[in-house]
Amino acid sequence: MELKGSNVLVVGMARSGLAAARLLVQHGAHVRATDAKPMESLHGVQQELASLDVPFILQSPAAFEACDLIVISPGVPMDLDLLEQARRRGTPVIGEVELAGWYLQGKTLGITGSNGKTTTTALAGHILRECGIAVQVGGNIGTAPTSMAGNSREGQWNVLELSSFQLETVDRFRAQIAVITNLTPDHLDRHHTMEAYVQAKGRLLVNQTAQDYAVLNADDATCAAFADSIRSRLVWFRGSRRTEAGWSFDGSVVFFEGKPWMEARGIPLRGRHNIENVMAAAGATHVAGAPLEQIAQAVRSFPGVEHRLEFTAEIGGVQFFNDSKATNVDATLKAIGAFDGGLWIILGGKDKGSDYTPLIEPLRRKAHAALLIGAAADKIASHLGNAVPVIRCRTLESAVHAAVERASAGDTVLLAPACASFDQFESFEHRGKVFKEIVHSLESAGVS
Ligand code: ADP
Repeated sequence: MELKGSNVLVVGMARSGLAAARLLVQHGAHVRATDAKPMESLHGVQQELASLDVPFILQSPAAFEACDLIVISPGVPMDLDLLEQARRRGTPVIGEVELAGWYLQGKTLGITGSNGKTTTTALAGHILRECGIAVQVGGNIGTAPTSMAGNSREGQWNVLELSSFQLETVDRFRAQIAVITNLTPDHLDRHHTMEAYVQAKGRLLVNQTAQDYAVLNADDATCAAFADSIRSRLVWFRGSRRTEAGWSFDGSVVFFEGKPWMEARGIPLRGRHNIENVMAAAGATHVAGAPLEQIAQAVRSFPGVEHRLEFTAEIGGVQFFNDSKATNVDATLKAIGAFDGGLWIILGGKDKGSDYTPLIEPLRRKAHAALLIGAAADKIASHLGNAVPVIRCRTLESAVHAAVERASAGDTVLLAPACASFDQFESFEHRGKVFKEIVHSLESAGVS
């Protein structure tokens, strides 16, 4: 579509919406912006729009009239009434990723899934960089895809972490390599059904051709089922047992096409789920041209991603891990699974209607006690019952102190709270930073 001189409305004025507006202006479109929130409550938007000369109109039927194209941010539900009406009038509605796809030069490696997206994306970027292959990394993980278009060039890889919200509006967007890490129910408040959620994730594969690659989790039936309906070449990975095809793991060694490739103990990330992320990133970067031995070397030097089972410190033989990103029970189970025992686990925060009883068995086996913080403390205590010793701490600071007083050498203090952070913190990042500050202040005070 020729953007020069066309009237384009951008809906949703957060990072992606602003980036889309900027790209559209650069390509000569007459852009206007809208959001359901008034401009005053949108941080920094006023200045940015003023510098682009883009007018803002509060979301209303009038805002959606007389446009040649509507671009929506991932935060905007695509079934919004005003969008449905615009479609009926014949106005094309696309997402920010679709727009980015029109202008991104080079090839795209797209990564989606319910869990492990950020880790796999950061690792794939690290591997390509270490192998001397030109790359830029963005998407859900940081820089909006439309912001990456300007820096993109032929011969370079654009590695994009893509959420279901970013993918559901994809029309022609094509990833030469697509990774789906796994598919478990998530975000059903917005997608309504598991089928709709899976379909949104599947948009990453629909435009692939026979030259492209799909890297899929063979252990995940929903993910593996995509193999029946796609045109691209398949790269399988399987974390449950050794296989002759693709990438596989037998509990201690990772295999490529049945031959030993790398030992798990050389991988600086904990937990089987992270071995799956390593295989997904290795599978993708290998077909992007990275040699096997160099991929292994790059994996060894991967610093990990902040707030994902991040080693924080060792004080008097007690190790501290920050998994503030474990904001649901499933992620906390994965975190517990990454340790053999001796855990002092910090749980709690803002409850998301979760059932905490699946934590009972692993905690009984591996934890000395659960230290409870935040608004969900009562609910977690009642779900855990008498199965696991529970210590009520209210704040993160008192939880860390309570753990340190009781822990002995060889134990682990793990923040993997199974809850959102918003009752006491701005975000999971903020919670993780506070945890690390508390631990580092103990370290510098010489507590042991
Ligand atoms: P995402 O970007 O998809 O949220 P992250 O890499 O940020 O994924 O990891 C989020 C949380 O999910 C981590 O704290 C970890 O406990 C869990 N996790 C990471 N990778 C996987 C995986 N492959 N399978 C299941 N859980 C995972």
